[in-house]
Amino acid sequence: MTEQKTDLERVFEHIEENRESFIARVMDYVRHPSISAQNNGIKEVAAILVDMLTGMGMEAITIPTRNHPMVLGRMEKQPGKPTVLLYGHYDVQPPEPYELWDSPPFEPTIRNGRIYARGIGDNKGQHFAQLMALESHLKVTGELPCNVIFLLEGEEEIGSPHIAEFVAEHAEKLDADLVVTSDGPLHESDTPIITFGVRGVASFELRCKTANRDAHSGNFGGVMPNAIWKLVHLLATMKNERGEITIDGLHDVVVPPTNMEREAVSKLPLDLDAIKADLGIKELDAPLDRGYFDRLMFYPTLTINGLHGGYGGPGQKTVLPCEAFAKCDIRLVESLTPDYVFEKVRAHVEAHAPDVEFLPQNAMLPSKTPMDNPFASVIRDAIVAARGVEPLLYPTVGGSLPDYVFTKILKKPAFVVPYANADEANHAPNENLKIDLFIDGIKTGAALLSKLGEMKM
Ligand SMILES: [Zn+2]
Repeated sequence: MTEQKTDLERVFEHIEENRESFIARVMDYVRHPSISAQNNGIKEVAAILVDMLTGMGMEAITIPTRNHPMVLGRMEKQPGKPTVLLYGHYDVQPPEPYELWDSPPFEPTIRNGRIYARGIGDNKGQHFAQLMALESHLKVTGELPCNVIFLLEGEEEIGSPHIAEFVAEHAEKLDADLVVTSDGPLHESDTPIITFGVRGVASFELRCKTANRDAHSGNFGGVMPNAIWKLVHLLATMKNERGEITIDGLHDVVVPPTNMEREAVSKLPLDLDAIKADLGIKELDAPLDRGYFDRLMFYPTLTINGLHGGYGGPGQKTVLPCEAFAKCDIRLVESLTPDYVFEKVRAHVEAHAPDVEFLPQNAMLPSKTPMDNPFASVIRDAIVAARGVEPLLYPTVGGSLPDYVFTKILKKPAFVVPYANADEANHAPNENLKIDLFIDGIKTGAALLSKLGEMKM
C-alpha cells in the first residue's frame, strides 16, 4: 500500500528528475549578457523573460521606465489565496576585468559543483530558480497554489534609479500581500536565512574654503585659517572618541529593537575572532560595549569616506591649504529618513562651521518588516520543507537595498530569502553559484508557493 503523495512532494520529485535540464537551461539564460551600465543585451534578455513567462501560461509584458524596462508577469487564478510578488533583477554588473576570469563571463562553465558566469548568483540564477519553481508546479499540477506577480528590474546594478517612481505609478499592478526577493548570499555555512530589513543611507559632502589661494606656511601660518584644520574640527564635533554620533537630534527618532529582534540576533552564529583576523584588526570600533550585530542592525553610523586637501606627494611642501573636502555617509536605521538626517546635519554644520558648504548627495530610505508578520512563519515553514534546516533570521542587514519601495511605497511586508552561496563572488571575476544551492532554491521557491497556498486570506 502506497501513501498518497502531496502536491509538493510530487513537485520536489519533478525538480530532482529535471535537475540536469534546469542546469542546462540556467546556463543558457546567463549566456546572454544584460549589462545595464553598458546598455548591452538588456532588451534581448527582457524579451527572453517575457517569452519564458508567456510560455508558462503567465501574462507577461515589459513596461518602459525612463531607462531600462521592467518585466512584469502574473498569474492570479486562486481567489481567496495570497498573492506573492517575487522581485528580482535581470541586469548584471559589467564583467571587467576579463583577464581575472578563469573562464569567460558569458560562457557558463561548471567546475567543482559550481556554475561560473556573470549574473549566475546576482541575480539571474536566483530568479531563474523562482521561475523553475513556478514551472514545476504548473507542470505537475497544472496550476499555481497561490497568486503570483513576478517583477524583474533591469537597473538594479546601476542603483535602481527608477524603481520608486515605477512602483508608485504602477501600484495597482503590484497589489500583492507580500514581497519576496531572492538575492544576495546565504550564511557562509550555506544555512538558509530570512532577512526582514536593510539599512538606508544618506551620503553628503562637506566643502571648506578659507582663502582665495594656498599660502606659504611660514609667511601666513597663524594668519590665514587652514581649511583642513577647520574641516577636521568640524568633523570632530560630529562623532566623539567614544564612538557616539553627536549630531543633535540624529538619534531622536531611532526605533529601538523589539524583543523578538533581540532574540533573533542572540541566535545568529558569530565568530568574532575570525572576523578580526580577516580584517586584521585588534578590536572593534568604539563604542566597545556594543554587540556585533547591534552595530550593523540597530544603530546609525557616520563614516568619513574620504578626506582630501593639501599636499600628499613625495618629500615636503610647507603649504597652508585653502581648500578641504570630506565625503561622508550615514547608514540609516528605522525610522531615520534622508530628509530628516540631512536637515540635522545641515543644522549641525551651520552651528559649528557656518562657512563650510554642506552638499547632500545620494540617499535611500531604510526598510523593515516586523518579525512577527504572519508571512514570516510561512516562509520559515517553506524553507524547512525544502532544506530540512531552520533558517537564521536577520532583522536587518547592514547594507542598503531599495526594499523601501515595497514596505514604504506599496506598504507591504517584504522578505529577502537568498539562494546563493556566500562566496558567490558577485560583482567580481569568477562569479559562481553552487549547483546544489540552485536546485535547493527551486525547491524553496516551490515550497513557498505551496505553503502560501495553504493560507486563507
Ligand atoms: Zn549586484
